[in-house]
Amino acid sequence: MESDPQLRALAARLAAAGRLSVLTGAGVSAASGVPTFRGEGGLWRTFRAEDLATPEAFARNPRLVWEWYDWRRQIVAACAPNAAHQVLARWGRRPGFTLVTQNVDGLHELAGSPDVARFHGSIWEVRCRDWCAGSPPSWTDRTVPLPVLPPPCPHCGGIVRPNVVWFGETIDPRVFARALAATSCDVFLTVGTSALVYPAAGLVHEASRQGAFTAEINIERTPASDALDLALQGKVEEVLVALDRLMEAATAPEP
Ligand code: NAD
Ligand code: ZN
Repeated sequence: MESDPQLRALAARLAAAGRLSVLTGAGVSAASGVPTFRGEGGLWRTFRAEDLATPEAFARNPRLVWEWYDWRRQIVAACAPNAAHQVLARWGRRPGFTLVTQNVDGLHELAGSPDVARFHGSIWEVRCRDWCAGSPPSWTDRTVPLPVLPPPCPHCGGIVRPNVVWFGETIDPRVFARALAATSCDVFLTVGTSALVYPAAGLVHEASRQGAFTAEINIERTPASDALDLALQGKVEEVLVALDRLMEAATAPEP
């Protein structure tokens, strides 16, 4: 793999980048055993993720939506970060590096990535559905499985919801601002994302507009592929390791 000219070209770009931003999607956690939304295992019972991850679905049937999140929390709790998370955690120590993720599983943090911009929140956080006066904006709850569904709000007796961004909801403005700032960079790399979910999918195009070199790693072509400078096809957990090795070789002192 490491003799591939496209891979070598990308490694050279990455090694030379003063400011490097990476956007990750569900494909990065696939090798850890976390199902993607659109791949195999994306269906839960008979439901598509797009029909459960909405405020309307939660208003209609909070118990059903919570059963799905409780199931996902149990899967993720049994998963460990893979080689892709580990390479990105190492790159996180470089100055000028920003990691933006659409993933809600917390595996980047578990691998040691610092300051992850969590575009879509976290399944390990909850908040009061009614933003009751007594409750903090959100809090961590790692209990798996949850004993009562939907879980009660300890502050008002109402119910809590996962602190994630559902289809049709807006991104936390502070996180959005960080992600937008990350589009001002030398290289913007998107990995393991279907490039279908906006506004996250727009970030790479904004980076391109600002003059960044843009690249993608995915097992298949995506709607973004044609617009990017480089679209590499392959498993992210293999391609990132190969890139990391090439970058190290490029920066190693001459013997
Ligand atoms: P998606 O399910 O729509 O797309 C996953 C993409 O990853 C696909 O394009 C697929 O081709 C690619 N892929 C799968 N395995 C891969 C591998 N080994 N190497 C490289 N690419 C691989 O996910 P998305 O684009 O992240 O967007 C959907 C939304 O779903 C996001 O909001 C995300 O937060 C959420 N989601 C998160 C998780 C998670 O936290 N792990 C899991 C499922 C969905
Ligand atoms: Zn409450």
